[in-house]
Amino acid sequence: MEGNYRNILEQLNEGIYYVDLNKRITLWNKAAERITGFSSEEVLGKCCADNILQHIDENGNKLCIVGCPLGKTLKDGGNRESQIYLHHKNGYRVPVNVRVTAIYDDDNQISGAVELFTDITNRLDMIKELEKLQKEILTDEMTQIGNIKYADQTLRRRMLEWKEMQVPFALIFIDIDHFKSVNDTYGHNVGDEALKMVANSISAAMRPFDVACRWGGEEFVVIVPNISSDSLDNIGERIRMLIENSWLTLETKKIAVTASLGCAIVNIEDDIDSLIQRADKAMYESKSSGRNKVTVA
Ligand code: GH3
Ligand code: MG
Ligand code: MG
Repeated sequence: MEGNYRNILEQLNEGIYYVDLNKRITLWNKAAERITGFSSEEVLGKCCADNILQHIDENGNKLCIVGCPLGKTLKDGGNRESQIYLHHKNGYRVPVNVRVTAIYDDDNQISGAVELFTDITNRLDMIKELEKLQKEILTDEMTQIGNIKYADQTLRRRMLEWKEMQVPFALIFIDIDHFKSVNDTYGHNVGDEALKMVANSISAAMRPFDVACRWGGEEFVVIVPNISSDSLDNIGERIRMLIENSWLTLETKKIAVTASLGCAIVNIEDDIDSLIQRADKAMYESKSSGRNKVTVA
């Protein structure tokens, strides 16, 4: 099989195995290993009738005996889909959705079949549900970046890392300039669009561990781990520049905003409040010295 195809199959979340006409397993991808617990070395070349997976249906019938969907498809070429329970290497049953399709050779003869199976255990849905809930709780609905709760949580975490492991971090305060006039001139809806635009442009400047949150109203914060004051100035400047170079198009008008930034790196005496105060104060210095500026405390 071509390397490229092989790679794609390995990336899939669905388990895949191929069998030849003798139901001998010729391919077993990573997801199949994960879902069943059997490694490819353990199953390749084996017959699926050797009963590795021992599929049963919802009534407990052994499919190898009452009618293997793979076997049927090898005979008639039909596609099949069913929900069955497979046998995990550790003994327990795994509910899976199974789809079987025939494979044809160059002469259009059936040469094998492929079974795709997805783990449909409810436990997984529960984890996904929890992750979704947590994401909802920590996301600002309008801008889809972190909310103030997430900012607070991140600040606590970073402060702990600073106190216990001396990993420095910085806080950047961002306040949009004259935002009230955007609302007054174009209306609240356009104001909302401008907030989303700014949030996206801030996100564009983020590195993998930086966290951007809406602090409230037209104010944002960025929490930057592991940083020196030079690179802090660079990040602040990049955020400022990206906001300045963003715009909404309203009919023929270009609506752009600028922002004033205040940055502070954590120091020995800091707690979260004092760090916020220094970043906030630096931001007001940017305001009073003309706006569209970055000040590092
Ligand atoms: P400055 O340069 O001094 O920061 O001026 P400003 O106009 O940005 O400051 P001010 O605090 O006076 O105004 C902030 C405005 O942001 C007022 C408020 O109506 C607007 N605002 C706050 N939250 C939202 C929102 O969710 N949507 C919209 N459209 N406007 C918002
Ligand atoms: Mg403000
Ligand atoms: Mg403002």
